[in-house]
Formats: sequence, C-alpha cells, structure tokens
Amino acid sequence: MPGAMPAASAQKSPHAPAWEVPPLPYAENALEPHLSAKTLSFHYGKHHMGYAAKLKELVQGTPFAAMSLEEIIKATADKADHKAVFNNAAQVWNHTFYWRCMRPGGGGEPDVALTQRLIKDFGSPQAFVEQFRAAAMGVFGSGWAWLVDVAGVLKIVQTSNADTPIAHGQKPLLTIDVWEHAYYLDYQNRRADYVQAFMTYCIDWSFVAKNLGVA
Ligand code: FE
Repeated sequence: MPGAMPAASAQKSPHAPAWEVPPLPYAENALEPHLSAKTLSFHYGKHHMGYAAKLKELVQGTPFAAMSLEEIIKATADKADHKAVFNNAAQVWNHTFYWRCMRPGGGGEPDVALTQRLIKDFGSPQAFVEQFRAAAMGVFGSGWAWLVDVAGVLKIVQTSNADTPIAHGQKPLLTIDVWEHAYYLDYQNRRADYVQAFMTYCIDWSFVAKNLGVA
C-alpha cells in the first residue's frame, strides 16, 4: 500500500514529483505571431503552473504523493471523491503534452511514415486535418481535441474540461487545447482562427510521429 510508506519514500521514488512541470520546450515568444508571448506567459505561467500548485497542495501528505502523474490520473479517473485531484493532475499532464505538440516553424506536412498511417485511417492527411479541425471546433465549452491510438487504430476524440485519453486506455499522439484561455488574448472568440494557426504554423508533426513510433 503506498499509503503505508513513510513520507520520505516520495523523495526516493524513481519518477519526478507529479506536480513538477517541465520548462516550456521553447521561448515564450517562439510561436509568434501565431501565439503571442503574452498568451504563453499566462497559459504556461499561470494556468499550467496553477494546476501544478493546486495538485501539490491536494496530494501532499496523501498516498498520491508517492505516485507518478500518470498513476494519479489512472487512480482517480471516475472517482467522485477524488475529482479535484483528477482534474488538476490531468490538466498538468494535458498541458505538458500540448506544449510539445507545437514547435517554432511548425506546420507543413507529416513525414512519409505518418502520412501512410493517416491515409490508412482517415483517407488522406488533408482529411485528417479537416476532421481534427472539426473536432476542435465541436468541443462545447472547455476541453481538448486529440489524435489517439486505440489498439493500433488512429482515432480523433474530444475530452471535456480536464478529461484526458490516458484515463481511458487511449494513447495520445496529438492534442489541441480549446479552453478559451489557450487563445482568447490573441483571437478573442475566434477559435477557428486559433485552430487554423495551430494546424498550419505550429503543429510539430515529428512529435506526433514519435508518439506513434514511426519516427
Ligand atoms: Fe490550457
């Protein structure tokens, strides 16, 4: 039982504390003009870091403190009495993954191996982009659109609020955050323009390919 361990065991665990957020993989202004330094500063510095601080506050002194972020998410998914832990843990994970889905000078075309997979499961890379864009636009309220691998088949799914595919046994390959905090400073209510900029200029196809194991 993790709960029986002395508190010091958390320090010896092989994984980083669940509330530890990696640095942004690029400078705050690196995605300009598509996403401004101001957006990244608030989104990473206030929202992402805020979820992490809240998670730390919630799990310290509990058995969750010794678990990895993924373990916490899986242990609290669909548990009404641990909703706040799940929400903050999932948002920490989702945001760390989201930052890596973009890169300065991103966009363009996926490489040959990924293109073949997109053709197999969506018909063409263009059809995938259109379906992914529609999924991002179709999220009602706050949430995420994802490309996931479900037992070898690529699928597009939506999640609401903090929910994450890793709570449902799906392997995330790509995500876009469509909470208003992700785009409001730059695009106000124009989610379509944000999604377009993400897909055209920011997406890191090599990260998607790496997640799929074809890079
Ligand atoms: Fe966000």
